Amino acid sequence: MKTKTLKFGGSSLADSAQFRKVSRIIHEQTGRVYVVASAPGKRNREDTKVTDMLYDCYELAKAGKDFGPRLSEIETRFSDIAKDLGAEFDCAAEFGAIREHLRKGPERDYMASRGEYLNSKLLASSLGFDFVDPSTCIFFDSDGNLNATKTNEVLGKVLEGTEKAVVAGFYGLGYDGRIKTFSRGGSDVTGAIVARASKSDVYENWTDVSGMLSADPRIVRDPEAIREISYKELRELSYMGASVMHEDAVFPVRTAGIPINIRNTNRPADEGTWIVPHRSNLTENGRVVTGIAGKKGFASIRVEKAMLNNEVGFAAKLLNIIADAGVSFEHVPSAIDSMSVIVDSEDFRANRFRIMENITEQLNPDSLIIDSGIALIAVVGVGMVYKRGVAAKVFTALAQNDVNIRMIDQGSSEINIIVGIDEADYEKAVNALYDAFFKSRG
Ligand code: ASP
Repeated sequence: MKTKTLKFGGSSLADSAQFRKVSRIIHEQTGRVYVVASAPGKRNREDTKVTDMLYDCYELAKAGKDFGPRLSEIETRFSDIAKDLGAEFDCAAEFGAIREHLRKGPERDYMASRGEYLNSKLLASSLGFDFVDPSTCIFFDSDGNLNATKTNEVLGKVLEGTEKAVVAGFYGLGYDGRIKTFSRGGSDVTGAIVARASKSDVYENWTDVSGMLSADPRIVRDPEAIREISYKELRELSYMGASVMHEDAVFPVRTAGIPINIRNTNRPADEGTWIVPHRSNLTENGRVVTGIAGKKGFASIRVEKAMLNNEVGFAAKLLNIIADAGVSFEHVPSAIDSMSVIVDSEDFRANRFRIMENITEQLNPDSLIIDSGIALIAVVGVGMVYKRGVAAKVFTALAQNDVNIRMIDQGSSEINIIVGIDEADYEKAVNALYDAFFKSRG
């Protein structure tokens, strides 16, 4: 039997109707035995996530203000779900303890974690599963990062000792013995940690979309869904702003070679997206390109100097100046007598005088040109390593749509082509590239 770990996001567990869908999904397959739950999310657009309401309570308590009404609203959300499901759940006792904590000395992470703690306890009770509190088996080290080795060992033992369990998402035990949370959206990370520790065959991440899309739907109308994507491609697209999951959720399962399946709780028959260690060169539809993503908000620092190619250490000096200012760089396109560094506009703006002064003094350039308002677009696909003409297609599509290319970079892994263009052309360029790669074959 294949063992699966399933993580359900906040919108999948926002009310009792969603709980029922989740229960149906879990019971549909015998291997669905490890579950990770988020706190209740929004029930509609105007609604507030329970995690945000918990942060409100913490702020009110810290400021010595009355947190009672806000906490009662949260209590009502849980008691409504419990009542509707007829689940055994002592809401009054749980909230009594939280009230006590807020009165005595509120802790931010502890408060934030209560949404996952309560929702997972409630889900476990309604499913008849064991409840696992991650404060006993997910550990952070002294610099605040996950202690992966200890967690894998202890959590692995805990899960071995239970047949079916719900583990609360989003938090664990800090080095100081207090509750510590991951960053927002961190239940995805818990799901990956549980999948690894339980040696699951699949990590199913259940949310409210049927997988990842090949382009941003706010820019491209009805983009194709991605059926299968490799971890590497996902990383490239996520870095460029395409988000489907918490970024840190990839690492635990990637090391263990466990595939992730993104699924939709509201459309459980949809296959969703498979994130796999490796995949064949072409997509299911015979395409070389898996997805297109991009971001605005970059600046280019261009340094020109005659005979630059003969000057040993020039590039290192330039990058050091930028690093010393605490700015990280994205790309370094270079020519014989010029070199550009693409950086985040905001970071650059905050440090521009120091950077420009140091370049002028230390590198003595013929000219120093700063261009801001650059957008970067990545065209990503493992298939392009083996296929000729992908770059030509990128350039032709952009040229035909009057988009001027300001920078070109192909990553050394050859699974992406990145172009820098004017921010004003961004939407047009994304559509042009989408049409070129997705509306025709190739
Ligand atoms: N509830 C937390 C948040 O809203 C964590 C999560 O849902 O993954 O960020």
